[in-house]
Amino acid sequence: MAARIIDGKLISERVRGKWKERATALKQKGILPGLAVIIVGDDPASKVYVRSKIKICHDVGLHSEVHELPEDTTEEALTDLIKRLNDNPGIHGILLQLPLPAHINKEKVLELIDVNKDVDGHHNYNIGALVTGNTVFPPCTPYGVQCLLKEMDIPTDGQNAVVIGRSNIVGKPMAMLLLQDNATVTICTSRTRDLTQFTLNADILVVATGKAQMVTGDMVKPGATVIDVGINHLPDGRLVGDVDYESVKEVAGYITPVPGGVGPMTITMLVANTVAAAERAAGVA
Ligand code: NDP
Repeated sequence: MAARIIDGKLISERVRGKWKERATALKQKGILPGLAVIIVGDDPASKVYVRSKIKICHDVGLHSEVHELPEDTTEEALTDLIKRLNDNPGIHGILLQLPLPAHINKEKVLELIDVNKDVDGHHNYNIGALVTGNTVFPPCTPYGVQCLLKEMDIPTDGQNAVVIGRSNIVGKPMAMLLLQDNATVTICTSRTRDLTQFTLNADILVVATGKAQMVTGDMVKPGATVIDVGINHLPDGRLVGDVDYESVKEVAGYITPVPGGVGPMTITMLVANTVAAAERAAGVA
């Protein structure tokens, strides 16, 4: 039987509606949640991502502003901007769009963002808080996957979850969130021997490798939930995930499509984190 499709677009609209209500409640108290996005350089994909983030913030009624800095911006100038935004009470969330030009020390500048405004969840403090289970701002993509599972009523408690990929922004925080939700978690990487041995044991399989269509139907346990985080552009212009959708959908119980699965949730969780940051700043429970 073909898998049920997890419609990330539909779910993200529903979830955004809930956060819009919370933003409206804040506005009634005179607080307008605000997001500042910083982009350095001319990476075309980054510009597309930033435009969609700003549009969604606008739709939800948040204040949003973009700070576009040229490719040759110095680390000092970027530092000054981050400090100004940290001190600006009208800005509750700061997102530094990655990648940054090579001459800027990414780790160093990410650490300058006020942890209470780190709505992308990339600051070491927020990563540490995630590990200890005192999550403040989970990174948006794994947070979106967690939200998809909850919205679809897919249980995690006691389930075998396998995450393929160990990046700081997707794989590792994803594993931590699944662990928090009481799954038994395995992380696989490019060094894993016999990947299929692990994937065939997964009730929940999250794939975040950046390798187009690498997980195929014969690697998936019948009835499993397969979450495809990947975004890959094929030479023929098609956009595909890290999962071979056609073969996997014949085996899995649930599957996220690409596009229209995890992607829309990522932006929605940015809205969620920004509104939550404004609530925290206002002392709203
Ligand atoms: P990274 O390149 O930072 O990490 C990829 C990870 O996959 C690494 O840990 C790597 O292992 C592992 N890996 C690569 N090849 C294999 C393999 N053959 N078998 C097992 N593991 C493998 O990527 P990101 O985490 O940043 O992104 C992953 C994907 O998610 C990309 O397609 C990206 O475009 C997409 N993405 C989508 C988002 C969304 O909103 N939908 C947001 C962010 C990312 P090792 O560490 O050993 O090298």
